[in-house]
Amino acid sequence: MNPDDYLPLSYLNAWEYCPRRFYLEYVLGEMEINEHIIQGTHLHRNINEAGTVQEGETFIHQQQWVWSDRLQVSGVIDAVEEREGQLIPVEYKKGKMARHLSDHFQLCAAALCLEERLGRTIAHGEIFYHANRRRQQVPFTAQLRQATEAAIRAAHEAIDQPMPAPIDHPRKCQACSLQGICLPFEVKQLRSSKQQNVDPLCDSTGCRD
Ligand code: SF4
Repeated sequence: MNPDDYLPLSYLNAWEYCPRRFYLEYVLGEMEINEHIIQGTHLHRNINEAGTVQEGETFIHQQQWVWSDRLQVSGVIDAVEEREGQLIPVEYKKGKMARHLSDHFQLCAAALCLEERLGRTIAHGEIFYHANRRRQQVPFTAQLRQATEAAIRAAHEAIDQPMPAPIDHPRKCQACSLQGICLPFEVKQLRSSKQQNVDPLCDSTGCRD
């Protein structure tokens, strides 16, 4: 595979949130600009300078490009902090701590890339949530590593498949910036009407008298 075709790390977030969202964004290139996207862009504008800064005993390597030939993913991680001999990948998120794992997958995938590049183990990463100014430590457990690798494989496979159906998760759909393009509730309504109109005496081989 051409390195230009490696799956961008940021799309893993979309994949874990909803496979249909991943397909709409990555495969079809759809994007809806809303206040959340603008806030996220504004937040990253403040940390978009590549380079290394020092805060106390910590060296912060900002905007690091990472990739994995084994997993065929690549992308930019917001920062890699170097503290007491440890490397800690850090992502900045505009929202509050989320209940779903999408941010963890993205961070863990970045750590897997770093491990492959540097040949050393990375024990944990951190996510800074801008909305409530909290840092969450994310241990890279065996389970998280396995789940992240499984998500990467599934996302690669989904690229050549038809678009997935909407997920059954109204809370996520209400918060999704692609709701106006995806039309999850309308699609479900249409599917359910079609199912109700199916003649129970008919099957794929024809209709009985
Ligand atoms: S609206 Fe719901 S089903 Fe559609 S992409 Fe967003 S989360 Fe997925």
